[in-house]
Amino acid sequence: MRIIVIGAPGAGKGTQAKLLAKHFNVPHVSTGSLLREYIEKNTGTCDELKHVMNCGYLVDDDIVIGLIRGFVEDKAFIFDGFPRTVKQAEILNEMLSAISAPLNKVIYVTIDDDIIIGRMAGRQSCSSCGAIYNTKHNPPAAERICDHCGGALFVREDDCEQVVRRRLRNYYTLTEPIIDYYRKQGIVFEISGLGCIDEITNAVIAELS
Ligand code: ADP
Ligand code: ZN
Repeated sequence: MRIIVIGAPGAGKGTQAKLLAKHFNVPHVSTGSLLREYIEKNTGTCDELKHVMNCGYLVDDDIVIGLIRGFVEDKAFIFDGFPRTVKQAEILNEMLSAISAPLNKVIYVTIDDDIIIGRMAGRQSCSSCGAIYNTKHNPPAAERICDHCGGALFVREDDCEQVVRRRLRNYYTLTEPIIDYYRKQGIVFEISGLGCIDEITNAVIAELS
């Protein structure tokens, strides 16, 4: 199974990618999480990278391609956060064509801006399993502790409103044009990110089965 999940920050693409990966038993590959882990492990040597991410700008293609290459070669993945530009989509296409492993589907999760800002305010992520909470809409049972694994919850530095707005602008100018690129290949499945989490997952699973 080779799937890409695309959506604005806060659309719920990470949550869906995680659930789909579990259902289909393929790796969930979040380039944002991989980058954050990389920075965590290499503290002191990644100040520039950390700055780029905390400000909501995009990281260099070479770094990101290095992170996803192995998953492409294994021919099984759910990409969450990659590709993020038409150029990255073209690079991915070349890599997949070379090994005759086309994409199965591009899941496009849509949502309105005003809802995004509300979802991002109060967002907390689990440092150990990646589960996502919202202090208002979807709070953990115990403050700052993950319901699933007991891990500590943290607030991403790039989740403040000003940076979210920049990430959103980047998303519309750089990432959303990817949808047209994939529409031409006839593999886009569009779904609203407004429904309840399980309903969205089930609709996507039905489409893929
Ligand atoms: P979101 O999609 O919710 O904005 P992510 O966790 O996917 O958040 O990404 C966080 C940050 O990681 C991005 O703002 C960007 O700086 C960096 N990043 C992630 N994926 C890529 C990518 N494919 N290309 C360039 N930068 C990326
Ligand atoms: Zn957890």
